Amino acid sequence: MSNLQKEDFSKWYLRTIQNADLMSYSPVRGCIIFKPDGYELWERIQKQFNKYLETQKIRNSYFPLLIPKHFFEKEADHIKGFAPELPWVTQVGDEKLEEPLALRPTSETIIGSSFSDWIQSYRDLPYEVNQWANVFRWEKKTIPFLRTSEFLWQEGHTAHASEEDARNRTMNVLDAYADLIENFLAIPAYKGQKTPSERFAGAVDTYSIESMMRDGKAVQAGTSHYLGNNFAKSFNIKFLDKDNKHKYVFTTSWGSSTRLIGAMIMEHGDEKGLVLPPAIAPTQVILVPVGPWQKNPKIIEQLNNIEQKLKDKNIRVQLDDSDSSPGFKFNDWESKGVPIRIEFGPRDLENNQVTIKLRDLNDKETTPILEIEDYISNQLKLMQKRLLESARKRNKENEYYNIDTLEDLKKHIEKKKEENNTPGFILIGWDGTAETEAKIKEETGFTTRNIPFNPPIEKKIDIVSGKPAKYTVWIARAY
Ligand code: AMP
Repeated sequence: MSNLQKEDFSKWYLRTIQNADLMSYSPVRGCIIFKPDGYELWERIQKQFNKYLETQKIRNSYFPLLIPKHFFEKEADHIKGFAPELPWVTQVGDEKLEEPLALRPTSETIIGSSFSDWIQSYRDLPYEVNQWANVFRWEKKTIPFLRTSEFLWQEGHTAHASEEDARNRTMNVLDAYADLIENFLAIPAYKGQKTPSERFAGAVDTYSIESMMRDGKAVQAGTSHYLGNNFAKSFNIKFLDKDNKHKYVFTTSWGSSTRLIGAMIMEHGDEKGLVLPPAIAPTQVILVPVGPWQKNPKIIEQLNNIEQKLKDKNIRVQLDDSDSSPGFKFNDWESKGVPIRIEFGPRDLENNQVTIKLRDLNDKETTPILEIEDYISNQLKLMQKRLLESARKRNKENEYYNIDTLEDLKKHIEKKKEENNTPGFILIGWDGTAETEAKIKEETGFTTRNIPFNPPIEKKIDIVSGKPAKYTVWIARAY
C-alpha cells in the first residue's frame, strides 16, 4: 500500500475527498460543489448544532446576501479587515447600481441594522438569532472545505443588556463548539483567546477552538466574538433600560463553517481514505454478501433480516447487493469511511454468525447473529470514543512545551523535517507584542493559534525578546 498520507499530506487529502465522492471543483476558483455525500455531512453538523440552539432558545432566521456598501463603512475596523476579500455587485443588466452591493462575508452589519429597529426596551433582550447561510471571502489560497471563497456556515448574532450577559453567551458558544467537535466529530478542542492580531475585525475579544490535524498543522474550527458596544454604536442599537435610561446593547457573534468537514477528514482519515466518526457517518454499517451468495437466497434473506434489526435500533445501515465483487465493495466503502462493515457468506450462514470489520482497526471478528443489534450499537459507541482518544494521543505526541528561544524553535523545525515528522503545536511564552508574533511568522511560518485557558504549563519568558512573558500561547503552522 502507498504511504501518500505521510509523504504528501495535501495530495492525500485531495485524493481522499475525491475518492469519497464528497465534492467537485467549480469553474470559479476557490468555490467547490458539494456532492450529496459531502453535503449530507454538513446537514448532520447542522442538525447537531441546531440541538444546542434549541436548548438556548436561539432561533434560525435569514438575512439577505447583498449588503449595501455604506453599511460596511459604519464600523471602521470591520471594513478595513474585510475589504480585500469582498466581491461586489456593481451592475444589473447594463445599468450601473447607484450603490455597490457586497456579497456578505459575514452579517454583523445587516443584522446590526435590523437589531436597531427591533430592539427598543430591556424586555426585548437578550435578542438572539442564528442563520445558516453561504458567505464569500475571496481568499488568495484555497483548499476544499478548509478554506474556500464561498463557504457555508452558521453565524449567531446576539444583543444583551449587559457586558456580563454578552460575555457569558460568547463563552457558552465556545463550549458548544468544543462539545460539537469533540463529541460529534471526535476532534480534540484547544480552547482559548485569540491574540489582537488574529482578532475578528470589529471585535473586542475573539475566542477560538483550534484543532490539530494528523500532519500537526492547526485548523481554526470555530470562533466566538465579544463585540462590546462597537456594532451597537455604529448601528445605533439602543434600549430603554429599567432605570428609564437609553443604553447601547452589548453584542456577540460566532461562526463555524463547512471547514469542519475538512478538519474531520484530516483528523481521522487514513491511507485507505475517509474514516467517519459513527455519530456523523451517513451510513454507519454496510452489509456485504460474500462467497457464492447469489446461489443461495437464504443469504440475502438473512441480510435483510439483519438490516431490519439494525434499522429498528436506529442504526443507519445499507445493504450492498450490487454485482460488483466483494473486494471492490470493501475498498469503495472503506474509502467512503463507513464505520462498520458486516460480511456475510455461506460459512457465516452455517454458523449463525457475521464477520465484522471495524474501519479504524485491522482485525476482523465474528459475532453471533443473535443480538447483533446490541453488539453493533455498542461497537459504534466504542469507535466514537476510540477515535477521540487516538486523536488525543496523537496530539500529545506532537505538543512541545520546552522551546524557549527562536533559535531552538528553528532547530526543532529543522530536526522534525529531517525525521519527516511534524513540528506540531508549540507552547511559548509571549510578551504580548505584535513584534514577537511578526518575527515568529516571518522566520518560521508559525502563527499564534490561541492563548489557552488552561495551559499544560505556564511559560515565563518571551520566545523572541527574552522579556518576561505576559501570556502562554500555542503556536503552529495553520491551514
Ligand atoms: P470569522 O467570522 O472570521 O470568525 O470566521 C468564523 C469561522 O468560519 C472560522 O472560525 C472558520 O471556522 C470559518 N472560516 C473562515 N474563513 C473561512 C473560509 N475561507 N472557508 C471556510 N471556512 C472559513
